[in-house]
Amino acid sequence: MRVPFNDLSSHHANLQPALDEALLNVVRTSAFIGGPDIAQFEAEFAAYCETPDCAAVGNGTDALEMALRTLGVGPGDEVIVPSMTFIATAESVAIVGAAPVVVDVLADVHTMDPEKLEAAITPRTKAVIPVHLYGQPCDMDPIIEISVAHGLHVIEDAAQAHGARYKGRPVGTIGHMAAFSFYPGKNLGALGDAGAVVSTHTDLVTNVKRLRDHGRLPDDKFGHSLIGRNCRLDTLQAAALRIKLPHLDNWIRRRREIAGTYNEALRGIVQVPEEIAEVESVYHLYVILVDDRDGVRDQLREAGVASGVHYPTPTHLHPAMTRAYGYRPGDFVRGEQIANHALSLPIFPEMSDDQVTYCVDMVKQAVGHA
Ligand SMILES: *Cc1c(COP(=O)(O)O)cnc(C)c1O
Repeated sequence: MRVPFNDLSSHHANLQPALDEALLNVVRTSAFIGGPDIAQFEAEFAAYCETPDCAAVGNGTDALEMALRTLGVGPGDEVIVPSMTFIATAESVAIVGAAPVVVDVLADVHTMDPEKLEAAITPRTKAVIPVHLYGQPCDMDPIIEISVAHGLHVIEDAAQAHGARYKGRPVGTIGHMAAFSFYPGKNLGALGDAGAVVSTHTDLVTNVKRLRDHGRLPDDKFGHSLIGRNCRLDTLQAAALRIKLPHLDNWIRRRREIAGTYNEALRGIVQVPEEIAEVESVYHLYVILVDDRDGVRDQLREAGVASGVHYPTPTHLHPAMTRAYGYRPGDFVRGEQIANHALSLPIFPEMSDDQVTYCVDMVKQAVGHA
């Protein structure tokens, strides 16, 4: 049997006629920039996130950058980021001219360790970016409590966590602002790059709508009130996302079902991704820790099972980060440990029960537990 890591072709197969129609409609009307699908998708995604508004932007990295700029983060400021995440979290901080300050993650759930937060705060700290890594919400209560005590802004990096919940609340409603990515492989993916910012504060979202379009709002064609950028979302992508969003909760349900099967079959054999109390992960990734990660990965590949590594380098040890900020191996041992032992198993909504069973068997075999 062969099991791919993800299968976007089968993901889109049933949606093909609806996608064709939606895309053709944009072409027929030539509403490529700022067409009606943009405002409609923003309203629909805001409703999904239970926020009053949403600003669609070019990708998830733009979303983080626009949120940072909206909150006034810039040169001379510091922003706290976790040791295990995709580079974009720290990169967006550097893009606005601020310095990313790394804190280590929790050993079991791989998200920001709230207990490490306080010691990393300096008079220059302006914001914290907790990352809901792999689709699992961070332990937000202590992060918010510490941030409030120090007057810091909190930007949720929800790029992997559309629809995840923390104590009943959807991610994106807990911090001041939140950034989402719709990169094709994300749980909600566009047909190319796409992203969004949401917030419970409407004025902050409005500011992003300005920044993404040369500092102006749509009803004010030459009223450039801010120096902005061009990082608008294409209408074609908004049209595609509108077709896919109504299916997201079903896809999440299937991901959680697969994760449940993996957990039951593999707990005690490898370190499985446990959910912290009162959170609902959406399992963008299913990441186990194994001793001989590269060996297990090779064996799985020989058995026809594709796997991934998220991520092989912790935030502080990317060459760009060591060069600019002087970080060294040993600075954040849990992030480094995860980078060396993490293995992502296939998890996608179209995966069959047989494929899940086969993956379980092959993992057991690869770690000598057949
Ligand atoms: C995907 C991702 C991003 C960046 O999103 P893009 O749309 O690829 O720019 C940021 N943070 C995390 C945690 C991500 O997984």
